[in-house]
Amino acid sequence: LAPLLARTPGRLVGAGVGAAGVVDPATGRILVASDSFRDWAGFAVTEAVETALGVPAFLDNDVNAFLMGEVSAGAVRSESDVLGMTLGTGVGGALWTGGTLFPGPHGAAGEIGHIPGFGDLPCTCGGRGHLETLASGRSIGARYADRTGRRLTAREVYEAATYGDEDARAVYEAAGRGIARAVVITAGVVDLTTVVVGGGVSGAWPLLEPVVLAALAAEPPVSGHPVRLVRAALAS
Ligand SMILES: [Zn+2]
Repeated sequence: LAPLLARTPGRLVGAGVGAAGVVDPATGRILVASDSFRDWAGFAVTEAVETALGVPAFLDNDVNAFLMGEVSAGAVRSESDVLGMTLGTGVGGALWTGGTLFPGPHGAAGEIGHIPGFGDLPCTCGGRGHLETLASGRSIGARYADRTGRRLTAREVYEAATYGDEDARAVYEAAGRGIARAVVITAGVVDLTTVVVGGGVSGAWPLLEPVVLAALAAEPPVSGHPVRLVRAALAS
């Protein structure tokens, strides 16, 4: 959990919490816990935070919170049709359409990290061939280990790529092509103008950006309008 404390000078007035998994903002509970913290399903997050801090607390999915932040005050300020994608421990997605967040009836809209069609590797969610198997931080480390037998973090793989390690570069190129495919699929369904990418793996932006842009140019959205690709501005 990553609480963002809203403060006036000297006085805490409320707390916003972005949590991984499927959450219910109305009740402040986690409905489906993510793989990163399995036993949290049913936990009353806002109740616990309000008890601890004595101020109103609000809960949303972490990627929804990320996207709302970027639309409010970040890289996609005031834009109306945006896919938010976080490349962290896992791959998260959220949709902002017609100037508002579109969570979907189950709170799972925009979850582009867990749609099949990105290969055949097993995913943390139990499915196969999801974008998360190519583009999450732990997958980048795992895909590099598949090729070399050496276990590095995503950041170390990025550093190796910048020093000319061809295996490291190939792992990031596969991630970038996967990200582009996710963008084209989403743009074809909801007609986006922009994609904002955050999360720790976006630290490899100098390597990822040209790969994603080249793949998008080779396979443009059906609208005929290119999708703008930007890195998150508020946090990585
Ligand atoms: Zn998955």
